[in-house]
Amino acid sequence: MNAISRRIFVAALPLMAVSLASAARAQGNSPVSAGVTLFQNVRIFDGKSGSLSAPSSVLIKGNVFERISTAPIDAEPGMTVIAGGGRTLMPGLIDAHWHAMLIRPNPAQAIVGDVGYNNIAASVEATDTLMRGFTTVRDVGGPVFGLKTAIDTGLIAGPRIYPSGAFITVTSGHGDFRQLSELPRTIGGMLGRMEQIGGSMVADSPDEVRVRVREQLMQGASQIKLTAGGGVSSPFSPIDVSTFTEAELRAAVEAAENWGTYVTVHAFTPAAIQRAIAAGVRCIEHGFLMDETTAKLIAEKDVWLSLQPLPEELRQGFPVGSVQRAKADEVWPGIAATYELAKKYKIKTAWGTDVLFSQALAQQQGAILASLVRWYSAAESLAMATGTNAELLALSGKRNPYPGKLGVVEQGALADLLLVDGNPLENINLIADPAKNFKVIMKDGRVYKNTL
Ligand SMILES: [Zn+2]
Repeated sequence: MNAISRRIFVAALPLMAVSLASAARAQGNSPVSAGVTLFQNVRIFDGKSGSLSAPSSVLIKGNVFERISTAPIDAEPGMTVIAGGGRTLMPGLIDAHWHAMLIRPNPAQAIVGDVGYNNIAASVEATDTLMRGFTTVRDVGGPVFGLKTAIDTGLIAGPRIYPSGAFITVTSGHGDFRQLSELPRTIGGMLGRMEQIGGSMVADSPDEVRVRVREQLMQGASQIKLTAGGGVSSPFSPIDVSTFTEAELRAAVEAAENWGTYVTVHAFTPAAIQRAIAAGVRCIEHGFLMDETTAKLIAEKDVWLSLQPLPEELRQGFPVGSVQRAKADEVWPGIAATYELAKKYKIKTAWGTDVLFSQALAQQQGAILASLVRWYSAAESLAMATGTNAELLALSGKRNPYPGKLGVVEQGALADLLLVDGNPLENINLIADPAKNFKVIMKDGRVYKNTL
């Protein structure tokens, strides 16, 4: 290569990267090879209402619901026709708090383990996630961009992913998994291992926050995740602490809003939640130690609350006597209390699982959803995991990687659906056994499972 051609080649590199990325995006969103599918004799849960429709026909063309009708729709040549037999057709499930890269590995593997292995493990888990009926996840922390591209380009089967990219945290905050031996950090110097792999980024000033936020946006983040207070699983962040200053939080909010999207924060305590809201944060993850005043504020400011009915097994998984177990014991009683506050103040509430480092728990993703019946009816629980969660996803505005309507069965919406053997509004536990009860799983107009 001579000097001139080398210069042209180097100049073209960014263009090549851009066209690869946009090809990936276009392919993921377009109805490539999704044909025409007709469901006959199904009863519809539309993702919002409290009851099933009368027996109906549903026509899917490309990747959208083309026509939904109680009058019969005639089959035509070239259509795939599925006889529903009176089963329930409902929107694909959405998990609003998921970490696709952090299910299969243990914490040490996730940080210092082989990146190639971790991606392959996440790929296998992504397929399992889709086969549990979860057609969309909001990923709230982890190096997930490659996995998302692999799914969107059809390389592997998995859910739609709304990625946050790396957790953004402060020194010692939730998500700072460094050891004390790695301190002190040289400002502008070496990155820690978790930063090198894009798992979490440490930022200790508004300027650093802006850089890290913009780096996630550059990689395609649909929303930004900061940890505004202490967390259970990280080694050096007590539960009671507030981490980012208001100015730092505001820097993140400005950078995200300039990009047309929003910031969500991990926060438990009233102080951490209130500071985040003052800085313009639009969604609170967990909030399990909140009080009445804070609940009222969340409702007044129309902020989203993303809650998880964390299972008891997760708490018991932390060894007795460990710092993490002590923190879990402090947080867990707040779960029920927070659900009660969310209901009392009619807070916009999303549902998620926050499964971490456990394939076994991931397999209970549907069962964790079903456990919402402690506080909600089956119909309310399912509406939360479909239509309502989709409203939260839509906060990503123009950074939404899958423009179109999700979480509902209605004309023109994106065709993500499940055909359930039975009526989940009467028996929500059907959701807990997807292998048996989900007869058809469709995402983006394409059938990924059909046992009829
Ligand atoms: Zn989480």
